[in-house]
Amino acid sequence: MTWSGNRLSAALSTRPDRQARARHRIGIPKLLNIWSTHQFWIGFFEALGIPANRIVFSSDTSDNQMRAYGAARSTVDCCYPVKCGSGHYGELLFGQKRKIDVLFSPMINNVPSFLDGQVANSLTCPRVMAAPENIKAGFIKERDLFAEAGVRYVSPLVSLGAPRLVPKQMHAALKDVFEGLTWAETREAVEAGYRTLAAFDEAMRARSRQVLEWCARNDRTCILVLARPYHMDPGIGHEIEADLQVFGYPILWGQYLPLDEGLLDAVFGDDVREGVIRSAFDISDVWPSSFSANTNEVIWAAKFAARVPWIGCVIRLVSYECGMDQPTLTPVQEIVERSGTLFFSFQELDSTKPAGSVKIRTETIAHYLAETAEQHLRNKLTWDGARLQLERLTRSDPSP
Ligand code: SF4
Repeated sequence: MTWSGNRLSAALSTRPDRQARARHRIGIPKLLNIWSTHQFWIGFFEALGIPANRIVFSSDTSDNQMRAYGAARSTVDCCYPVKCGSGHYGELLFGQKRKIDVLFSPMINNVPSFLDGQVANSLTCPRVMAAPENIKAGFIKERDLFAEAGVRYVSPLVSLGAPRLVPKQMHAALKDVFEGLTWAETREAVEAGYRTLAAFDEAMRARSRQVLEWCARNDRTCILVLARPYHMDPGIGHEIEADLQVFGYPILWGQYLPLDEGLLDAVFGDDVREGVIRSAFDISDVWPSSFSANTNEVIWAAKFAARVPWIGCVIRLVSYECGMDQPTLTPVQEIVERSGTLFFSFQELDSTKPAGSVKIRTETIAHYLAETAEQHLRNKLTWDGARLQLERLTRSDPSP
């Protein structure tokens, strides 16, 4: 923050309405696309004057959470990640040592994506967007449990993928919650939210780049996980990637692959120059229906994996009753397997983690990787005319 920024912040903090605001406790259910946007919300609420220790996220998804707080209030006929939402809501309403004042659960209808401008749209899955309405219904169907707990429920439609709309959406949602909230404050808080999110994403990408560079220097193989952001939740993705990591293979997530210009030119440059795609981020050669942000990113990451020799294996995670992922299963598998990269999928993930069968499968994957990694590395480097060799990958500047 600049000197004038510090002075502004100090001046704002003495305002009585800001001081009152700082006493609020905001509860945010940690579900669905909160997993990819949580840093935006932290940056946003902090900029509005809510201290970090008063921004409370629910725990990771678990059976205990659902049993204790969500049972009998769960959404029916829905995919597993949405069903889990009632446990998160219930934990924030009934499971806090210090009561929250506001349960904030945004209906996010689109999200920022590194593919913006190259794809038709960056919408979220309709179930992601509508989930807060579905989950809320379980808490008001007999009586209003939010009102009984003295908690204000705030659930605005937020178009995070369209930054110009967000200040208006957030000001309308919060002006009656935070006394004295101005339009200018809201706009600055939204900008702070985007900066915080961008810094976090950049740090994650830099870490992925370090992993790839380490693999390149040491002729080692890593594993790429293709999944929704919320499969990072141990209760949704069951930490299958962690079970694989113990065999010594570093893990990358598709959402946080490095986007350095030099690397992308090495990976996609020939296709761009030959006119197969318009840019390194173009996926129209394999996926014309590019409306969903998470789907688009999975497809792009599959293309990336198919071209980068140090990614020896792709793991696909799909939740129980996920309609959105179904059409992508075959294309993603084909893109990956045609390059000779190993591909395994774990589908219909729900509350049960069949430890025995997961163990057998992860051991099988590790066995195949050990058998094929070296040959795979050699083959891919040969197929690609060695254009992806270490020297070229590491020539571009490391991310900050
Ligand atoms: S993408 Fe699939 S798992 Fe996620 S909310 Fe939509 S239907 Fe459910």
